[in-house]
Amino acid sequence: MIKVTAVRPESIGAELGLVPGSELVSIDGRELEDFLDWEFLSAEERFILHVRQPDGTEVEFDIERPLDEGMGLSLEPVRIRRCANRCDFCFVDGLPEGLREVLYIRDDDYRLSFRYGNFATLTNLKPRDVERIIEYRLSPLYVSVHATDPVMRRFLLRNPTAPEIIPQLRYFADHGIVFHTQIVMSPGVNDGPVLEQTLRDLYEFGDAVMGCSVVPVGLTEFSKHHLVREPTAEECRAAIRQIEVWSGRAQRERGLHWAFGADELYMRAGVELPPPEIYDGFEQVENGVGSVRWLQQQIALGAPELRGWEGRRIGVATGTAMGRLMPQVLEPLARATGARFELITIENSLFGTSVTTAGLLPGVAFQRALKGRTDLDLVLLPAESINDDGLFMDSMTVDLLGASVPMEVRFSKTFTDALLEPVAA
Ligand code: SF4
Repeated sequence: MIKVTAVRPESIGAELGLVPGSELVSIDGRELEDFLDWEFLSAEERFILHVRQPDGTEVEFDIERPLDEGMGLSLEPVRIRRCANRCDFCFVDGLPEGLREVLYIRDDDYRLSFRYGNFATLTNLKPRDVERIIEYRLSPLYVSVHATDPVMRRFLLRNPTAPEIIPQLRYFADHGIVFHTQIVMSPGVNDGPVLEQTLRDLYEFGDAVMGCSVVPVGLTEFSKHHLVREPTAEECRAAIRQIEVWSGRAQRERGLHWAFGADELYMRAGVELPPPEIYDGFEQVENGVGSVRWLQQQIALGAPELRGWEGRRIGVATGTAMGRLMPQVLEPLARATGARFELITIENSLFGTSVTTAGLLPGVAFQRALKGRTDLDLVLLPAESINDDGLFMDSMTVDLLGASVPMEVRFSKTFTDALLEPVAA
């Protein structure tokens, strides 16, 4: 059963008399569990929808509509599948106390993997989930492999009952599912020979594994430092050398680069980022793999269209990780627009200085850095630093931040997306 939360006026849903609180029970006799069932089972021109109205009456509608006409319903948010693992490097364990409750949920959900590209370990799948992945063709899936050796993987996940990943992937691949994979590299555990074996196993798996990224483990001040540590520069360089060997082989044999290092791996290694063409279409850009090169491409595409910024003073607030790479990103933007950009790198006052990513900066850190900066016309903040409700990690609202700093604030993914309209003179 799925609850309706809103009904668009004049939509089919409204004509049927559905209202917020109506429960969608089944389609053609098949029970509805979540948005996946709804989307796939209602993707027919004709179907029987069983609904329970808020007053308890049950109604069956025989629906016939053109495929391009939606039902006009908004549904309750999906109940997120909890994770069955206890990784030493789990980000949730690395959160300070007192944040929003939802941030402490360890999610490991194949549905979100399919829909949003969230990585899932597939360790909590029930037989019904396996059936749904195949029936609905949930592909590609984004899978956290970490290690293909079952003993090592169970150790990394701290889950003695985690199923073996290669047979699991094989079963799905035999049914037409493909994967993007990642390895979170924990030094002394799954780097070196374990990393080599994992890359080999995934590569030899064949076309169903579309690529594999290696991401260095990231810790906060609150993580389990007695159990896990971050890699040294030399350990990151060693991983990059391994990745490059597999990437070279993939190019020769498959015309793909296939193996990628996260930007963070290169930054920690002190090695220049590779060129944009090695990222095979930036499939893992949301995972921090090729983000800088992707950003540069977006700027090259969008900057020539921007007008009205000559002489304007624009602050770009970001975390310390991107801060190091940002000058090479901003320079062409400044040239194309005639604006003066000032990079404002901000340390993370919530998680500690070891957390360098912009997306985890709290509102209060931006507020402190921007207070009294009357010399700026505009400040650009990373779009990933707020959630869909406009809240920063520390629950500060966008409105509160905007009211407490002296310049206009805009959120941006590519910089150019936030500069289409000039600020008021
Ligand atoms: S898989 Fe590991 S890192 Fe991911 S949520 Fe579960 S415990 Fe945390």
